[in-house]
Amino acid sequence: MNLVEAVKAAGIVGAGGAGFPTHVKLDAKAEYFIVNAAECEPLIETDKYMTRTFTDKLVLGVMMIAEHLQATKAVIALKGKYKEEIAALEASIAKNNAKIEIFKMKTFYPAGDEQIIVQQVTGKCVPERGLPLQVGTVVSNVATVIGVYDAVTEGKNVYDKYLSVVGEVKEPIMLKVPIGTSVRECINAAGPVLDDYRIILGGPMMGKVIADAAQIDKLVVNKTMGNIIVLPSDHYLIKKSQVSMDRLKHQARSACIQCRMCTDLCPRYQTGHRIKPHLVMRNVWREDLIDDMEEFDKNFGDSANCSSCGLCEMFSCPMGLSPRRVNDYMKGKLREKGINPEKNMEPKARESIELSKVPTDRLIARLNLSKYNGLHAHSCNELRPDEIVIPMSQHIGKPAIPQKQAGDTVSMNELIGKADDTGLSANIHCGISGKVVEVTPAGIKIRRAKEA
Ligand code: SF4
Ligand code: SF4
Repeated sequence: MNLVEAVKAAGIVGAGGAGFPTHVKLDAKAEYFIVNAAECEPLIETDKYMTRTFTDKLVLGVMMIAEHLQATKAVIALKGKYKEEIAALEASIAKNNAKIEIFKMKTFYPAGDEQIIVQQVTGKCVPERGLPLQVGTVVSNVATVIGVYDAVTEGKNVYDKYLSVVGEVKEPIMLKVPIGTSVRECINAAGPVLDDYRIILGGPMMGKVIADAAQIDKLVVNKTMGNIIVLPSDHYLIKKSQVSMDRLKHQARSACIQCRMCTDLCPRYQTGHRIKPHLVMRNVWREDLIDDMEEFDKNFGDSANCSSCGLCEMFSCPMGLSPRRVNDYMKGKLREKGINPEKNMEPKARESIELSKVPTDRLIARLNLSKYNGLHAHSCNELRPDEIVIPMSQHIGKPAIPQKQAGDTVSMNELIGKADDTGLSANIHCGISGKVVEVTPAGIKIRRAKEA
């Protein structure tokens, strides 16, 4: 079995973001292979923990993937302040005689954005709405590389997950859990210090806010979940997520002072992409008055280039407005109208790119998260839940097809959902041994077998 086949069989998908199947991404040749170990968002601990704990696997995995891609440059990019992780990497690179460069980034947001990493490491800008491969680069994150190493060397499939739980808990913790573990169980393991809390799945900037407490009980850990932030129900980030789009549009009309800060600090604008959120904010009130498609494209087409990084609404705007959500709204409108704005295939970074970097500490203060900053998870607890519910859709594309029914027995590492080969999809495996209780649209529920 070659590397791509082993990765496909193991069900590896990008461990952050939308869960793009890794076998598709790695079925390529590239000049650069870059590992994104920069932990893009504040408060997340997972990449750091995995880098310093599984350093050899990471280094050997990078060598394996770089060789497969025929990459002449293999780079691990992380923040220069991660001293412990850098020391561990340097030792492992020397021990394994690996040709891997460590690229030390400044502490700014969004340092871990895939396109920003590519620009910082290679000096090249990815085309608008394009892929790093278009500039000869493949980027993977830490968990993905370790997953590839485990799949190729041990035949281990993706059935468990490392994630951090931070915020209003006794102390931040790292957990290793089977995929399908209840999110509430993970939070309880960290000891929430509030009865009435809400959560963000992922980071504070791009994570999913769960503002409905009852919803938390329905959530399970999936392949793309790397962090849970526990926050008071009246926290700024929770309240901001609940403002209606109508209200945001009214605010844009009445309070936007056209200062351009949202545009000047926009990371996509700085990499030469056509995006000017201040103009979208200026024109959003006219949206319903524009029938002509060309005119609509001219006014709002640039929204398609927004990465939803959130910097404009969480940091840049002095009026507390929400250009990101207005851009997201406009992206939806462009799709609805079938408008696919022209792409700039050869963007060039602006001269101001270095000056526009937003220090993460200042961002954390603006997000009202300073009280949690600088607290780190020191150890990792393993959870062994009695019951798990494994979703068949944990990746971009088509859900996997269930291979089990109620009453069937299952073993750890066994395939329970087969990738739908009629489109983009990924295999799903089981992280405990036991019996299938039921198969529902939510996933396959499995109860752990009693140990002898
Ligand atoms: S969310 Fe704002 S800052 Fe980020 S890419 Fe979109 S417009 Fe730019
Ligand atoms: S930063 Fe805020 S006030 Fe300034 S142009 Fe952008 S949306 Fe308007």
